[in-house]
Parts: sequence; C-alpha cells; structure tokens
Amino acid sequence: MRRNFCAGNDKCGGDSRPRPWDIPRMAGRGLLESLLLAAFRLRTRGFLAMEECPGGVPPPPREGNVTLYLHVPFCRALCPFCSFHRVMHEPALARRYFQSLRQEVLRYHEAGHRFSGAYFGGGTPTSEPAELVETIALVRRLFGVAEVSVETNPRDLRPEILGPLRDAGVTRLSVGVQSFDDRLLREMGRLDQYGGGDEIRECVGRAAGLFPTLNLDLIYNIPDQDLASLERDLETVRGLGANQVSFYPLMAAPSTRRRMIGSMGLPEGSRLRLFHRTILSRLRPDFTPTSCWCFSRGGKGTDEYVIDADHYVGVGSGAFSYLDGTLYATSFSLQAYEARIGQGLCGIVSRHRLGAGDRCRLALLTRLFGLGLDREWALRHHGPGFFRKVRAELLTLECLGAARRNAGGWSPTDRGMYWLVLMMSAFYESVNGYREAMRAHVAGELRAMDVAPPAMVQTAHPIARI
Ligand code: SF4
Repeated sequence: MRRNFCAGNDKCGGDSRPRPWDIPRMAGRGLLESLLLAAFRLRTRGFLAMEECPGGVPPPPREGNVTLYLHVPFCRALCPFCSFHRVMHEPALARRYFQSLRQEVLRYHEAGHRFSGAYFGGGTPTSEPAELVETIALVRRLFGVAEVSVETNPRDLRPEILGPLRDAGVTRLSVGVQSFDDRLLREMGRLDQYGGGDEIRECVGRAAGLFPTLNLDLIYNIPDQDLASLERDLETVRGLGANQVSFYPLMAAPSTRRRMIGSMGLPEGSRLRLFHRTILSRLRPDFTPTSCWCFSRGGKGTDEYVIDADHYVGVGSGAFSYLDGTLYATSFSLQAYEARIGQGLCGIVSRHRLGAGDRCRLALLTRLFGLGLDREWALRHHGPGFFRKVRAELLTLECLGAARRNAGGWSPTDRGMYWLVLMMSAFYESVNGYREAMRAHVAGELRAMDVAPPAMVQTAHPIARI
C-alpha cells in the first residue's frame, strides 16, 4: 500500500499536492513566496510515499559518510507545539528502550554498517543519563565515531549529567532553550518544567566550555513574540558561553494546531522575513552561518546530520534513515519496536525508493541549505544527469537572486537563505505529517502513556500496526 503524507493542509488527508486554494491560505506571505512554496511542495510531493517493507537491516551504502541517529522519545513534559515522536518519561520503560536501542546498534554493526558520527535526538536523550552514557560508549567502541552530538534540556545541565557526558566523549551538546522570554515560555508550556530565562542562562553557563560545541536551539515567530523580544533573545545568545545557535521558525503541524490554539496561538507568515533578517544582522559578525538556520562562533560546526551527511541510519522508535536514495522509517509503536528488536529484526517498517529526479532535488535542497552545492560533489554522487534534473530549480533560484555561482558551485544569498528556510520548513512539515499519521495509528498505546493522541486520525494504514 502506498500513500503520501503531508502536513501542508488542515485536512491532512494524505495527499500533499498543493491546490489552488493553498495560495490564498498562505495569507501573510508575499505572492512570490507563496508561489515558490507551492511549486516546492508540488516538486517534492513524492518524497514520503512510504510503503510497507520487511524489517531486515538495509545494506550499507556503497560510498560516502554515514551518520547514526538514535531517537530517544522520552520527555518530562510534552510541549504543545512539538510534533516530534515523544512520550512521557517513564523510567522502567525508558531503560528497556535503551537496551533495545543498543541491540539495534549491534545489529547494524553486524550487517557491516560503519558511521562517522552519532547524533542522539528526541525527545530528551538525557532523560536516563546512565543508559545514555552506556549507549555512547557502545557506539564509540563499535564505530570509533569522531563526533557525538546529544540533545538535552536546560534543567539537565547539572554537574552529575554534564561530567559523565563530557567523559563519554560528547563533542556537541545541544540545548532546547526555545526562548529566554518567561511570558513566551509560559505560553509554550515550558516555564514550570524547564525553567525561566534567568534559570536557563545560569544552566547554560554551567555547560559553557565543557564541550567543543555548545549549541542552543531557539524558536522564532512565536505568536506573541514581538521584535523586541526576539532582539533580547539575540542579545542573550551573544552574551552567553555557547558557540553555536540554531534558530528555527515555529512550525505548526495539523495535530499540534489544536493544542497550540488553546495555549500559545498559531504562527503567521507576515513577520517571518523581518525576523529572519533581524537574526542574520544581529548575529553577524560574531557568529557565522553554517547552514540557513545554524550559526557558529569561530568557524564550522556540526549542524544537522540530515544536511551534513551523505547518508544516515536512524535507530529507535520513530526514526528515519536515508541510504543510497531510499528513505526508511521505523515503527512509531514503542511496543512493536521492542518486539521487533526481540525477534532479531531492526525497527524499520516502511521505505520509499526516491526516483532519480527526487534524489537530485533533495540533494539540491540539503546542500544549498548547508550553504554550498559543490559541483564536483554533485557529479560524483549523482552523475552527469544531476544538473539536467535540477536545471529549472537552479535557474529559478539564480534568476530570483537566491543563489549565485562561485568557483566550486553555488551558494545561497541572504535572500536565498530565507527562502531555503521556508522550503526546509515545508519539507519538515511533510515529515511531521508522516509522523502524525503513524502516531495516530498507535494513539491507544500513546494515550496509555499519558500522551494526547494526534487530533487527526487517518484512515487505517498497515505500516502503523507493525
Ligand atoms: S520540544 Fe523538546 S522537551 Fe518539548 S516535547 Fe518536544 S522534544 Fe520534548
């Protein structure tokens, strides 16, 4: 069975094709932006046409660097805007989950996979610190990875967690701050559980200097955020000890919309460009862009494996892999995931082999988003047909002043960076749409774990039950 999933429309009926009435619905954006987004959605509508597949470990890629992504879905509070695969933290369940995760990692090693970096995301990977450290040790022993990135929350920046993470060889710690504005944090449902602005500043100060990269994740275009609030956040970031900051525009997936309306409201597009321009101008020159939404102090830093890696393998429940042009997704049921690992399988339940054109368009998006499409890289990875397949996209971006040629290839202009943020957000919204559809089918299990089920329940999809 094959079906597309898209978060781009409120009905989320499974068809991601933009329709004529999608353009006025993007009210608040300029016409050009709306047209570009509609064209982008049209050209990428087939990316997530997933279909059921057997649960064996896929073969390692023929060449290129591969990152291992490990998903840890447990959180102490569930933020209303979040559309990641997350559940309330339950210690016994979380410890069992980590054991399954390590078994799955071993399975990939036995199948011949080798990784150059590891990225622990969630959820909150530091929800069970001892289990996390044991898993990092296993990954480092098996693969000798040079880079280990871990996501965390402000209140986990405590000496008893930070010390073991540093000793375990973590090279990048990424803290979900979202904002330093207490009013916005309250509306986002984070103030009580993750602390207010003053406390977050103090927590970040404790982690400063302990890791090669300390990244802060912040969100902008929060409904009640005004320019002054964003500027205060930017000032705070410049004054703290973090050497990397990632600024994401707030995204609203169909199932999170209802929760957001009841708490923090919905984002609207009209202020996005102003906010993005403000972020660029206030962070420079202290921080240099390392992707369209990531900025580093003092040179290149790791941003996102989706952008940096040629391939990635996702382990755990609700993780994605991209190997040699095929997208894979693991089960969103924690019970089914554990059962599959117990049966000697991996977590993968669905896949989609991208066509040659889609592979090239995805590479164009991710490379330009990472600030550089290298001509040699494109030819090496996609062959001489690459530039024919993305000719229309590249020409459009050049004509609109969004990308310019340089000695080795193409890079985005400031205007292009803004449009690429819109396009990457649209891409992630599609991914969120798929996540929601899969979570909707295990709503009973998630509800039992104190999780509000997604608002939109799709028609039955066999992949979700596996
Ligand atoms: S935003 Fe972070 S802490 Fe909040 S629910 Fe999502 S993953 Fe958990």
